[in-house]
Amino acid sequence: MLRNMRKPPHIFLLGTGGTIASTAPGAATLTDYSVTEGVASLVSAIPEIDRIARVECRQIFDLDSIDITNDMLIRLASEVAVLLADPTVDGIVVTHGTDTLEETAYFLSLTLRSNKPVVLVGAMRPSSALSQDGALNLRNAILLASSREARGLGVLVALNDRFFAARFVSKMNTTRVDAFDAPDQGSLGLIADGHILLYQTPVSAVSKSAHFDPQPGAALPLVDIIYDHQSARLHAYLASIEAGANGIVVAACGNGSLTPNAREGLKRAVKCGVVCVRSSRVPAGVVTHSTRDEPAGLIASNTLNPQKSRILLMLALTRTTDRSQIQGYFDRY
Ligand code: ASP
Repeated sequence: MLRNMRKPPHIFLLGTGGTIASTAPGAATLTDYSVTEGVASLVSAIPEIDRIARVECRQIFDLDSIDITNDMLIRLASEVAVLLADPTVDGIVVTHGTDTLEETAYFLSLTLRSNKPVVLVGAMRPSSALSQDGALNLRNAILLASSREARGLGVLVALNDRFFAARFVSKMNTTRVDAFDAPDQGSLGLIADGHILLYQTPVSAVSKSAHFDPQPGAALPLVDIIYDHQSARLHAYLASIEAGANGIVVAACGNGSLTPNAREGLKRAVKCGVVCVRSSRVPAGVVTHSTRDEPAGLIASNTLNPQKSRILLMLALTRTTDRSQIQGYFDRY
C-alpha cells in the first residue's frame, strides 16, 4: 500500500488569551473565569492534531481581549507579517478573546498582505466548562489555516463550525456559542466533520491586500466612539475635543441619524479639525451617504459598525485627514 508522503502544513499558532484559554472553578461555571492556559496546552488537548498540521506555538499576550491596546495590535500585526514572510510557514492561527476579536481581525486584514491563511479563533465557554467549545473551534481553525480553500481569502474568523471574512463578521450575542455572524453578508463557509466547505469568497478589496502600514513604536491617532441616544447632551463631544481626539465615530441612530446635540457636537469637532464618522448603533445594514455629509464635513461608515469604523479611521488618519479621501476608504475597505 502506498503511503501518503505529503508533509503536513506548518501552522504557526499565536496565543493572546481570552475565554478559549480560561478556566473556571467548576464545570457548570460559564462566566466567572480567568485566563490560565497557554496556547501550547490548548493544542496539546486536541487529539491527533499532528495528523492535520505541524503546529508551532508562541504566546504573545496572556489576557482578556478587553485589555488589548493599539500598541498590541501593531505588535501582533508585525509578528504575523514576519511569520507570513517565512517560506516554511503555511498559515497562521491566532487565539483571541471574543469580546474585541472583530476589531483585531479587521485591523490585521487592513495591515497584512499575503495569500496565506490567517485565522482568528476564540471560544464562548471556558475550557473547564461542560460542552466547552474551544478545543473544537481551535481544531477547526488549524484545519482551515492548513487548507487550500482558505488561501487568498484574507483574514478569517472561525467559530462554531463557520468561518467569516474579518471585514464583515461581528459578535452578535453575549453568551451563546453561535455568537458570531455577518448579518448581511453571511459566512463564507462551514467546517463540518473535518472538511472545509467554502461557499462564497469575499469581493471586498480589503480581503485582497493590505492598505496601511502602521509602524511599531508609533502611536495610532486617538479616535473616540460616542453613543447617540434620545436626549443626548453635548458634553461627551466637548470632552473628546478637549482630550485632543483626532477622530470621533458616532454610534448614531438608524441610518446614521444624529440627534440635535450630536449634530452640534460634531459641528464643533469638525471645526477643531477632528475627523468625524457617522456609524450606527443598529447591528446590521449600511449607513448611506447623505447630501448633508460634505457640507458638514462628515463621513458615512458604509457597513462598518462603530468599533470597526474606529479601527479604519485610526489607520486612515495615519495617512491623511482629507475627508473625501477617508470617505473613499470607508466606501472601499
Ligand atoms: N472576556 C473574553 C475576552 O477575552 C470573552 C471571550 O473570550 O469570549 O474577550
